[in-house]
Amino acid sequence: MKIRTRIIKVDPENPEDDKIGIAAEEIKKGNLVAFPTETVYGLGADALNEKAVRKIFEVKGRPADNPLIVHVSSVDQIYEIAQPNEIAKKLIDAFFPGPLTLVMKNKKVPKITTAGLDTVAVRMPDHKVALKLIELSETPIAAPSANKSGKPSPTKAEHVLEDLGNLVDVIIDGGETKIGLESTVVDTTVYPVEILRPGAITKEELEEYVDVKYAEDFSVAKSPGMKYKHYAPDAETIVLVGKNFLKKATQIAEDFVKKGYRVGVAGLNLEEKRNDVIYKNFGRNLEEMAKNLFKVLRELDKECDVIIVQGVEEKGIGKAIMNRLYKAGRVFRI
Ligand code: AMP
Ligand code: MG
Repeated sequence: MKIRTRIIKVDPENPEDDKIGIAAEEIKKGNLVAFPTETVYGLGADALNEKAVRKIFEVKGRPADNPLIVHVSSVDQIYEIAQPNEIAKKLIDAFFPGPLTLVMKNKKVPKITTAGLDTVAVRMPDHKVALKLIELSETPIAAPSANKSGKPSPTKAEHVLEDLGNLVDVIIDGGETKIGLESTVVDTTVYPVEILRPGAITKEELEEYVDVKYAEDFSVAKSPGMKYKHYAPDAETIVLVGKNFLKKATQIAEDFVKKGYRVGVAGLNLEEKRNDVIYKNFGRNLEEMAKNLFKVLRELDKECDVIIVQGVEEKGIGKAIMNRLYKAGRVFRI
């Protein structure tokens, strides 16, 4: 069913009640609203309304066994839907609101939202628009990233429109997102707690409060989302990790250009080497790279058949960047 998407532009620092109120009414009616958070844009529906949540899976083309993160605007709301243990309480105190999602025992979130698991993933976004939307909707909001399943996540309202235009009722345009990568997902039902997905909150930061390990070291996917291809441009994507990136990327690009392919190269602090290759800068450091990663991949995807991306050291937010790049394409050490 096609609908007409309404785009509502808001001031991200001072979101207007009347504008967010229009979107909240849609959530209350069981409709879909895309909204900005500090990580990426989310595709939201009332987490407690099965019919509404089903629409999220439909429009994204998301497999039904991949559970959704439930977004709350207050600590009280966490206790309404989940049962935090002592470890979870510590992490809530330390990191909420922020780019951290906690998997906890479920209390009343319907099976469609949790993909049948007896746990639920909960996050409180550190973004005024998201918090106000949840508040005015008077319900927790289930929201995966607002892109077609498998594509790079949206960090601007235009990305949402490209992927989901006329499939969602409202897109709240609150400008570009600050972090640019999805939240860190931590399972608090086991000890040491396990990082199911790396993000802006790093293992080292969590370790100041609890013992932590990475779940990805296990062969079985503990988080359903871990097994799916993700973040991938349509273009053939090649990730090069190691020294002399610009030189090696340009050599490989040259080979592809000779064969008639359109090639893009993206990395940190890049200068242009050939005028028949498109060079894009992620920025000057890993934070800027995280912020611009999905945007640059989307831009190059429009113009190129092959994209060559600079891999980074898996430290700090570099861990989260590489986690996305492993799923976006093929990784080679140079
Ligand atoms: P997304 O909504 O696309 O940002 O992805 C949410 C991530 O959280 C996926 O990797 C899910 O598999 C994971 N997730 C959500 N709920 C749970 C849960 N109850 N247990 C484990 N992982 C979860
Ligand atoms: Mg996603």
